[in-house]
Amino acid sequence: MSTMQTLIDKLANKRDLADAELLELITSTDEATNQLLAAAADKIRQQYYGTKVYIRGLIEFTNYCKNNCYYCGIRAGNSHAHRYRLSKEQILDCCSEGYQLGFRTFVLQGGEDPYFTDERVCDIVAAIRRQHPDCAITLSIGEKKRASYQAYFDAGANRYLLRQETAAPEHYAKLHPASMSLANRKRCLFDLKAIGYQVGSGFMVGSPYQTPENLLADLRFLQELKPDMIGIGPYITHEQTPFAEHKSGTAEQTLRMLSILRLMFPYALLPSTTALGTIHPNGRELGLKAGGNVVMPNLSPVNVRKLYELYENKICTGEEAAQCRGCLEARVRMAGYEIVTDRGDVAKNVI
Ligand code: SAH
Repeated sequence: MSTMQTLIDKLANKRDLADAELLELITSTDEATNQLLAAAADKIRQQYYGTKVYIRGLIEFTNYCKNNCYYCGIRAGNSHAHRYRLSKEQILDCCSEGYQLGFRTFVLQGGEDPYFTDERVCDIVAAIRRQHPDCAITLSIGEKKRASYQAYFDAGANRYLLRQETAAPEHYAKLHPASMSLANRKRCLFDLKAIGYQVGSGFMVGSPYQTPENLLADLRFLQELKPDMIGIGPYITHEQTPFAEHKSGTAEQTLRMLSILRLMFPYALLPSTTALGTIHPNGRELGLKAGGNVVMPNLSPVNVRKLYELYENKICTGEEAAQCRGCLEARVRMAGYEIVTDRGDVAKNVI
């Protein structure tokens, strides 16, 4: 048996490895290792989740943002971005359409837009909660005070997505202006958990200045946080950012990290992300085969989709929600899995 296979078996059994061993997997560049990792990850995923793939309807409701993350296309400093925000009615329409298409989770994602005060967020969440009592409501609107998170939770939100982006403070400082800190992002994540949210975190793969040790720090941080969901995707360059000259991450590295995550966190909900589908034509299918069990099709109105441009050439910006749903259904089936239309809560019972 190859040494890589031995390491992978050890990771699958212990759900953990020593730093040096994890680094060996993280830095391996041969395709054979990726395939061994994907096979092991798929086996664990089948044990925990069978062939089920959960769908989340993503509603990108504002691209205004007060932050200036150096990698992000909707950063405040990008004066070329055409800004939009959806009205409460538009958001509710997206949810109704999504509900008819079988979505039972709505993810409201946006920049950190001061227009959406806590009062407005709570009003929208409460309205969705009233109209769709059987659905999970997920928010992904950045760093807030604990009291704000509590208010959204009390209004009916159940889940929150906030990637740590990178768990290494010195790397975090290279990706964000001095006004932002890893310490505050971590504070947010632990507050969200304490309040009772199902929490999703994660990181970009191949972001500028990222080292293998940084990725190791991400894995170690996730072990500490124990999130329900872990979202990772390749970093993809956006021309209108300070990182215009930096290279994008690769599908190979992202798939390798996805498989490692499945082996370390067998219970977790792991999306096969749009960013992965953007850098590789079959990225999302490969992501499912490498351990992913969630897809997040877009429910935003077609006329705003191109404007929510975190990175360049984002896929699925031209189709109606129903088309996206149909297309993904076919892709998921082709990859050997099946979309299920339930809330898709984390498999806590099998931990
Ligand atoms: N404002 C929210 C939502 C951010 S957008 C928040 O702060 O959490 C969602 C995710 O897109 C980010 O967490 C980041 O990991 C990812 N993202 C942003 N720019 C990207 C880029 N250029 N390439 C790939 N992913 C990017």
